[in-house]
Amino acid sequence: MNELATHEVLNQSPPFEDVNLFTSDRALTEAVNREGGGSAVRRLTAFGEVCGSAAAFERGRLANENPPRLKAFDSKGHRLDVVEYHPAYHECMAVSVAEGLHCSAWDHLAEAGGKAPQPGANVMRSAGCYMAIQMEAGHQCPITMTNAAVPTLRLQPELAAAWLPKVLARVYDRSFAPLSAKRGATVGMGMTEKQGGTDVRANTTRALPAAGGGPGGEYLLTGHKWFMSAPMCDAFLVLAQAPKGLSCFLMPRFLPDGSVNALHLQRLKDKLGNRSNASSEVEFRSAHAWLIGEEGRGVPAIIEMVTGTRLDCAVASAGLMRLVLANAIHHCRHRTVFQRKLIDQPLMSQVLADLALDVEAATALAFRLSRTFDRASDPHAAAWRRLMTPVTKYWVCKMAPALAYEAMECLGGNGYIEEGIAARVYRELPVNAIWEGSGNVMALDLLRVLQREPETAALVMDDLAATAGGDPHLKAHLARVQKLLHEPRLLEQRGRALTESLATLAAGTILRAHAPAAVADAFIATRLTGAPRQTYGHGLDTADTRAIVERALPA
Ligand SMILES: Cc1cc2nc3c(=O)[nH]c(=O)nc-3n(C[C@H](O)[C@H](O)[C@H](O)COP(=O)(O)OP(=O)(O)OC[C@H]3O[C@@H](n4cnc5c(N)ncnc54)[C@H](O)[C@@H]3O)c2cc1C
Repeated sequence: MNELATHEVLNQSPPFEDVNLFTSDRALTEAVNREGGGSAVRRLTAFGEVCGSAAAFERGRLANENPPRLKAFDSKGHRLDVVEYHPAYHECMAVSVAEGLHCSAWDHLAEAGGKAPQPGANVMRSAGCYMAIQMEAGHQCPITMTNAAVPTLRLQPELAAAWLPKVLARVYDRSFAPLSAKRGATVGMGMTEKQGGTDVRANTTRALPAAGGGPGGEYLLTGHKWFMSAPMCDAFLVLAQAPKGLSCFLMPRFLPDGSVNALHLQRLKDKLGNRSNASSEVEFRSAHAWLIGEEGRGVPAIIEMVTGTRLDCAVASAGLMRLVLANAIHHCRHRTVFQRKLIDQPLMSQVLADLALDVEAATALAFRLSRTFDRASDPHAAAWRRLMTPVTKYWVCKMAPALAYEAMECLGGNGYIEEGIAARVYRELPVNAIWEGSGNVMALDLLRVLQREPETAALVMDDLAATAGGDPHLKAHLARVQKLLHEPRLLEQRGRALTESLATLAAGTILRAHAPAAVADAFIATRLTGAPRQTYGHGLDTADTRAIVERALPA
């Protein structure tokens, strides 16, 4: 019904929903095909329809407007330590788990005889995550952590044998129950303490062997975690100080005898965004946990999990950037200002095209990174994975909030209102840059590779030089990066500059090789050369902005 008592509602854009998030996204479909996920196109097309449906967006809204609540005690004063979620959150989890986003990179482990990984499994999963995050972002936290926990769990075979069958199941079992009674399980992580998140070696939580100790042995953990998200996961990978140093443990919510483990949830964080997801402060009071690997080797054990989550942060930010861009273009196609559609106003067309360039670049980089997770045995892919994980995570996650803000402005006042999607996405995005290695930490990680594994950097630079091909701007940018790399003086101070230069170089080479000329030319002209920029919507005077926007969201 369009009419009110005083006026008719005119010139508002229709809701951006019932859109196939896969087939409507050329940058995504091409990246999936290019990076090795082509065999999943049919499945991803079906999933794109699910995630882009009006019902899915409504689930996302409900899950965020009704955030989880801690029930620390029951009505008689007994400890409960459970979190209650809105049914819409559980529905999002059920959708993503049924699609296997919490585990599908490891599907081969479920098959008898230890088959080889399915080619492209990570790329296919990343595509699923890229779309599921558009449906609802918060629930992707336990989905990401569960998938990323698998390589760390595998370091301790008897723990893996007990947990992996439930982790790899495509069943979302929300019950608070011992593992033996559950049909599917999720896994979280607890590293950050009050006195240190980046510097986990400052962890004060103590782990004492319950008996003899050693790999796979039972320990009692006493201490706290300042951030432990998704506390209704069935178990957590936790760092704590054992007698021989910082160590990694698997801490279940229930003990094998069926009793509840001593994890006491103190509070839930009141967060800027990510509101459907619970992030807890927790105390361990002689909580039981099982050692993964050797005592004192906690960081090497958990680093595999951390690397996996960094990939997902980049994929998630790219997906959310895509969502706000698509909403902005959609709105500007329908909204008329001064007798002309917004999309046809030259300034708006520049802004939208400019946003589209970053979304295309972010998507290209995130999926190139994902491919390297599929090709671990190829030395070039392994080098890219090591060097470009921090670079990609840094660049994609850092530019996302600014992009979301500009896309929000394209929607005018409606963009700022919570009923639309842009405000929620804007509040969500900073977290991907902060957790799992904040900006400076990513830059420092890159420098660590340069200093300790120069051959890794050399392999990546060789690949970039080969693909920069005959493009003079790419070649000039490559030379600038090479110069920075070989100038050890002030390297740490230049960490961010180097990270960003590598990211734009890598994105530019991928776009040059695979994107239409309108996109590659404009990206390279504005991001690798030209005047410095602090906002969107300039530098594209001669670019084919219409073609760029049309590619981003075909009319
Ligand atoms: C919503 C949310 C959920 C989270 N969930 C979890 C979870 O489930 N499990 C978990 O373990 N953690 C979780 N975290 C914690 C998160 O991973 C940490 O906040 C993050 O690692 C940073 O640690 P910190 O807060 O202690 O900050 P600090 O380590 O104090 O860092 C503060 C700043 O200093 C910078 N910095 C650090 N070292 C250097 C250096 N050497 N040089 C220059 N700059 C430096 C960092 O980049 C950062 O910007 C969550 C955080 C949020 C916001």
